[in-house]
Amino acid sequence: MAVPLVVDPPVLRESGQREVFCGLTSIVWLHRRMPDAFFLVVGSRTCAHLIQSAAGVMIFAEPRFGTAILGERDLAGLADANAELDRLVAQLLQRRPEIRTLFLVGSCPSEVIKLDLAKAAERLNQQHHGRVQVLNYSGSGIETTFTQGEDGALQALVPLLPATDQDQLLIVGTLADAVEDRLVGLFQRMGIGRVVSLPPRRSTDLPAVGPGTRVLLAQPFLSGTARALVDRGAQLISAPYPLGVEGSRAWMAAAADAFGIAAAQVAQVLDPLVERGLQALAPHRELLTGKRLFLLPDSQLEIPLARFLSRECGMELVEVGTPYLDRQLMASELELLPPGTSLSEGQHLENQLDRVRAARPDLVVCGMGLANPLEAEGIATKWSIELVFSPIHGCDQAADLAELFSRPLRRHSLLQFN
Ligand code: SF4
Repeated sequence: MAVPLVVDPPVLRESGQREVFCGLTSIVWLHRRMPDAFFLVVGSRTCAHLIQSAAGVMIFAEPRFGTAILGERDLAGLADANAELDRLVAQLLQRRPEIRTLFLVGSCPSEVIKLDLAKAAERLNQQHHGRVQVLNYSGSGIETTFTQGEDGALQALVPLLPATDQDQLLIVGTLADAVEDRLVGLFQRMGIGRVVSLPPRRSTDLPAVGPGTRVLLAQPFLSGTARALVDRGAQLISAPYPLGVEGSRAWMAAAADAFGIAAAQVAQVLDPLVERGLQALAPHRELLTGKRLFLLPDSQLEIPLARFLSRECGMELVEVGTPYLDRQLMASELELLPPGTSLSEGQHLENQLDRVRAARPDLVVCGMGLANPLEAEGIATKWSIELVFSPIHGCDQAADLAELFSRPLRRHSLLQFN
């Protein structure tokens, strides 16, 4: 399917202090998706604390590259750091023979930045040839926001995908297993014979890719992965993302269209779902209609969420912030936003908070660090990170997605009443 013309709405671009988790955070959901992969954070104690407190993930990010040690050393120190990394990896692989793919995840302490993790991965691949695949990507807070970590990990996998000419649908982006099973079943009922996923459920069970592959992004934050797949010959399907009834239907219909499936066949499979989804959504719509929403930039899900909450739940959009706007991947979403929606890209925290305070919205979607201060000022909030941990994709999940926004409003009004 041809990629539509990229629409070009006015966007306020900001830079300054940011308030987002770094890309290491995505390890929390990636390690659950691929239990035979291991994410070795090469970082500091801060990185270890982040991961351990966020997910209790077993990591080996000992402070072995600490500033004090390397700061006093020259290049010989870097050689020591590489030797230490090799030693840790050998120890890890000995203790955990089930690991099939090892991701070295870079971070932002200056002594880690000096390490060339791509070279380290190459070296470790030679040392452990045939036993494990070693890949690397950056989760550094300087370069990435938390969902971009998934983009980095998937992009690192793309060169390993075998080549194929076979016609197939490739769903890209982590979904809850049960949601994915349901969506794959629907695609097959519509008549798409072969449906594969990236990331796979086993890190070595990688899908093949080639000119017959149509890529359907399940998540909007996978720009690098999408481009790497297109470079491997795949065709990118342009569609809204599968959030809400309307978005999910359009997402599935776009895939069906890419395979030449008749609209009547699509309607036969999807119409009952749409009807059920809209019915389940109705009570949430009643509560959300007319409520004013401000989305601060955090997860890159903001634009699809804003589209869902305004069109299907009747919310008024005060401002829709996104950390990074990929106009091509967002083209179908931007077309659906109400005309004149205020969009902002990047972050200048103080300026954005000034706008939030001036607008006094009913609900702010934001990072965890901002929620408490805003709640203390009497503004209801929703943590955006919750959205990447919850099964929110598909028509069947639309009511659950809406409830994630209606619940804080209900709680807030109860607190005010008391
Ligand atoms: S990568 Fe950087 S931002 Fe993330 S936890 Fe480590 S030090 Fe903090």
